Amino acid sequence: MIVMKTGATAAQVDEVVGEIKRNGLRADVSRGEFRTVIGIIGDERGVDFARLENLPGVKEVLRIETPYKLISREYNRLSDSADGDYVVRVGDVEFGGEEPVYIAGPCSVESREQVFRIAEGVKKAGAHVLRGGVFKPRTSVHSFQGLGANGQDEAREALSWLRDAGKEFGMPTVTEVRGEGVVDMVSEYVDMLQIGARNMYDQDLLTKAATKGKPILFKRHFGASVEEFLSFAEYMAAEGNKDVVLCERGIVPVGKGKSYTGYTLDLGAIPAIQKETFLPIMVDPSHAAGRRDLIFSMSCAAIASGAAALMIEVHYNPAEALVDGQQAITPEELKETIQACGRVHGVLAKDRAKGR
Ligand code: PEP
Ligand code: MN
Repeated sequence: MIVMKTGATAAQVDEVVGEIKRNGLRADVSRGEFRTVIGIIGDERGVDFARLENLPGVKEVLRIETPYKLISREYNRLSDSADGDYVVRVGDVEFGGEEPVYIAGPCSVESREQVFRIAEGVKKAGAHVLRGGVFKPRTSVHSFQGLGANGQDEAREALSWLRDAGKEFGMPTVTEVRGEGVVDMVSEYVDMLQIGARNMYDQDLLTKAATKGKPILFKRHFGASVEEFLSFAEYMAAEGNKDVVLCERGIVPVGKGKSYTGYTLDLGAIPAIQKETFLPIMVDPSHAAGRRDLIFSMSCAAIASGAAALMIEVHYNPAEALVDGQQAITPEELKETIQACGRVHGVLAKDRAKGR
């Protein structure tokens, strides 16, 4: 990491970047309010740090050992001399701003009528972003795979329903890109790309998705440590895309007996991650709980833990949902949940201002 002197010229920054490139590596240039910091992307072993240190305009060269330096608070602090959180904008919705963001919608897009009806319901309930899966990650090949599995035309049709419902009710949209092959097509329709828990480790998918210039909702794998989660988020930052919203969605439960939840929601990870990175971190209580009667409590707990947003699966008739009906709540229940979360958020506002 190269810290430039205050007032270093653009030509001096270019020279440092050129030197990094000559070593076969890439550079991330972060222009802060007070100074510019340049992060080296790649294997630094061959870098001549003494030479870099002596280039004009360079204040100092720091070795940062963390595998996620580009998204680290440390990096941000160096360039901005501020501890500010990063706000990710999706349309006019701000993740990481003052107020929590609510993403809601069906697990999977099933018909035009279904998406429009749910979109109307969640908008009225107070949601800001519309979700809906077109390419579903499923454990069994015999389960419904999402309408996208029926072919290109069907995928485009389902994506256009989601886009149109979002437009109709004034919400940006998010859907999962399950593999590299669908990233270009999906990007034509939605405002935010989701990388699902199962694909957290797919670095080619992350790299490809990051190049589309769209914000990304990045879910933690259910077996991943926080360090791994952040290290893979770094792949997107390395492509120049820091518009990444991290999402905790539960990790594999321990013990032999019944757990009573689908996964174990790791809420301690929320404040822990906030100390490591400036990227916003949110919670998906639906996939964590795996049952609708826990969504209200877990949503409130997630907001209390400091989550910047929630993603909740909603259906007007959960019994008829093709996927994840057991964890879907109704638009009316979503409304009660959002209102309660608002109260929790309000109660803690003063404490947050103190940096707790
Ligand atoms: C989803 O949000 O649609 C989903 C499949 O979640 P996860 O990747 O967390 O299992
Ligand atoms: Mn689901």
